[in-house]
Amino acid sequence: PQPVEPVESRVSPQSPAQAATGAGTAVPITVAHGDGIGPEIMTACLSVLDAAGARIAPEPIEVGEAVYARGVSSGIGPDAWESLRRTRVFLKAPITTPQGGGVKSLNVTIRKTLGLFANVRPCTAYAPFVATRHPGMDVVIVRENEEDLYAGIEHRQTADVYQCLKLITRPGTERIVRYAFEYARAHGRRKVTCMTKDNIMKMTDGLFHGLFEEIGTHYPDIEREHLIVDIGAARLAERPERFDVVVTPNLYGDILSDIAAEVAGSVGLAGSANIGAHCAMFEAIHGSAPDIAGQDRANPSGLLLAAVQMLVHIGQGDVAERIHNAWLATLEDGIHTADVHRDGVSNRLVGTQDFARAVIGRL
Ligand code: NAD
Repeated sequence: PQPVEPVESRVSPQSPAQAATGAGTAVPITVAHGDGIGPEIMTACLSVLDAAGARIAPEPIEVGEAVYARGVSSGIGPDAWESLRRTRVFLKAPITTPQGGGVKSLNVTIRKTLGLFANVRPCTAYAPFVATRHPGMDVVIVRENEEDLYAGIEHRQTADVYQCLKLITRPGTERIVRYAFEYARAHGRRKVTCMTKDNIMKMTDGLFHGLFEEIGTHYPDIEREHLIVDIGAARLAERPERFDVVVTPNLYGDILSDIAAEVAGSVGLAGSANIGAHCAMFEAIHGSAPDIAGQDRANPSGLLLAAVQMLVHIGQGDVAERIHNAWLATLEDGIHTADVHRDGVSNRLVGTQDFARAVIGRL
């Protein structure tokens, strides 16, 4: 088993939670059980954290469908915001967002309100224990998290024309690009690849690419390259081994990280850290998977790996490493949920809670 990679904490100043930890004090963290498969994978995840002796005091909040149903259009109430502002650490299960209409995405609201500017998504192959065509891949997608087409400026111009504005700013881009290079340096990574479409969007994507080249000169120890995002996505799908850290504007990063996670083995295997100057949120990269909700079939690994990132962030690297190693040992023993189960590779098909019990048995 490999040691856990720590989440970059030089870029994100220590919260009181981080300062308090290590002395055995339980760190308050805000926890949302989410929608769809959310409650199942959160139960599994918290049972592992508990068994591993994580020094945390979870504060449950309600967000998503239950809150929308009460007529709160933001999907999150004042008590939840109060908890988040106090704990500054959020472990969140996926939330269902209506498509093509209805309420605004709560995920986007949370990221923007808490200023979570960097979305860090490690996508690693676990060959030969999880089937993948790319055993050597180990990519970290660093996605800008507040701007771009997610800035929330979208309106109807006429009956037949709708407009969505793409917003790229100099301060936002400088921050994410610097974060990517700092992350690479802190984790011993050698190359940062920037992907944009600046041959078409010369001003917005042009600014992002230009600042990448400019800031990159301050990191002579790290190789840098730029790819137009369409060919970059194709290469990521076909030859992911050639990538190390990838930095992109928001929407491309969303798409590229799902590609990378799926190519590595399953979208169910990747966790993410949403890092801000004062708060951080940890979640699986996948959604609420309504097609398998309530069936004890979901893979809790993405959320569990997000929780591992969270433990490192709050200074509990010892617990993080114990959980990560037990989780790797579970995969290595061929104990797999349906999404990664393959004949000839896996030994035992398990449900969500049995998978968590198997991890606990290896702590
Ligand atoms: P999804 O990621 O929920 O599901 C895509 C496919 O992957 C489905 O077939 C699903 O069964 C499978 N899958 C996802 N997670 C899995 C897991 N842990 N184990 C096994 N299989 C898994 O994407 P979607 O269907 O496009 O979205 C469903 C809902 O989730 C939407 O409302 C969307 O807005 C929301 N969503 C939320 C978040 C979030 O809360 N951060 C992220 C993405 C999507």
